[in-house]
Amino acid sequence: MLRILLILTIGMAVQATAQDFNLQVEKMNGIVYIDGVDLGKKLKMNMAWQSEAGILQIGNSYWALGSSWVNLKDTNFLLQTAVQSKISSKQSFWLPLPSSLRIFEKLLNRPIEYDSATAKIYSKPTKDLWSVNLDSKENGEVVELKLSKPFVTETFFTKPNYLLRISGLVIDSAMFSDLAKKSSMISRVIPIQNKQSVQITLVIKDNCEGVELVKKDEGKTLQVVLRKKHYEAKAQTSSSSAAQASGSKKIKTIVLDPGHGGKDPGAIGHNSLKEKEVVLSVGLKLKSKLEEKGFTVKMTRDSDEFIELAKRPKMASDWGGDLFLSLHCNAIDGKERQLRTEGFTFYILRAGGSEEDKAIARRENQAIVLESDKKGKTEISPAEWIILDNQLALYAEKSALLAGYLVESFDGGSIKKMRKGASQAGFMVLVGAYMPAVLAELGFITHPSDATYMSTEKGQNEIAENLAKAIVNFSK
Ligand SMILES: [Zn+2]
Repeated sequence: MLRILLILTIGMAVQATAQDFNLQVEKMNGIVYIDGVDLGKKLKMNMAWQSEAGILQIGNSYWALGSSWVNLKDTNFLLQTAVQSKISSKQSFWLPLPSSLRIFEKLLNRPIEYDSATAKIYSKPTKDLWSVNLDSKENGEVVELKLSKPFVTETFFTKPNYLLRISGLVIDSAMFSDLAKKSSMISRVIPIQNKQSVQITLVIKDNCEGVELVKKDEGKTLQVVLRKKHYEAKAQTSSSSAAQASGSKKIKTIVLDPGHGGKDPGAIGHNSLKEKEVVLSVGLKLKSKLEEKGFTVKMTRDSDEFIELAKRPKMASDWGGDLFLSLHCNAIDGKERQLRTEGFTFYILRAGGSEEDKAIARRENQAIVLESDKKGKTEISPAEWIILDNQLALYAEKSALLAGYLVESFDGGSIKKMRKGASQAGFMVLVGAYMPAVLAELGFITHPSDATYMSTEKGQNEIAENLAKAIVNFSK
């Protein structure tokens, strides 16, 4: 009888346990057998055996004396030879190597190797996932996965579940067992090993504001970055309203996006009033009001120039914007309808919406037709909505909150509230704004009194004042 060593290394960083096993091994007719009961015990697996019937149960697997078949979760696997017993011991189930190790791999979900030269069994967590680490920072947490090489990843976030799918990776789920315990922002970690990929679901707690996957080290390091909600830097002790509005919280940089511009006049309304001129003028007024309150304000355009729809939210993201506000004027066809259709509406990006809302989104998306290489598609496709899931899950709630403040601020003013004052539709200009984002239809440029109000200095100042008030309230 020779003794061999089974080395178990579970979770290198999260759970650094290395165990050595002295296992009993028998050589019969040139085949090496391992003591199944011994191995099961050392691996702390649930076990039961019926010596009379000659059945050994390890986890979900059933081994029978004299049989080469092993049943695992209703599937039969063939060993290279039958399970043997020794007359000296009634509780002995000798399992042939190496085929029995393939069953244990399925049971444990990790590779197990037998090295005949050294007569050792190696059970490594995985060849490709080297470590799982949790790093707690003041403003959040970082879950870091070290990999042997870059892998293709996909992420999905539907609150509260953040799913990271890594194609082609095999993991040892034990490496994730301590993660939730150590984290203050993750309530559960569910790693699921599939044939083609591993899916790691993090169930995120309420104190988490957003999750982001960052790749480093040429993709060999994956960092899941969890941002803490309502994080306030300790240095913020100033009580001035300007500091409160800007420095304090999450809202610091505001991106204003006056719609249309250049060759795209937007809607042409009452008295030939151009949408692109109204929104630029309101935008510039709003900019100075917000700057007075201490915010940093960026504008996608501050002159009469044409900017592609998709570029606008991208500029906002590149600037590290905390809030995106796209300014527009509504419009409608037909003299009759023009006279009776008025009011403001604040829109957030979301699938669905009424036919009326969809029509408004299509009109605003028309600008894309003027873009040189586009084919004039003015609606977001179902496939695109699926890809947008992440952005929507992260920011739809906050965007809706911002829209709520805007409605509150405008309600009872010179321009009437249209229906509920806030709605949702597929506005392309909001796609890719990774921040709370709202599109404002300030009023109907085709309605005589809305248009007149929006064209005057006084009206534009009031509109800018109302917008600023809502943003300040939202940022509190
Ligand atoms: Zn517009």
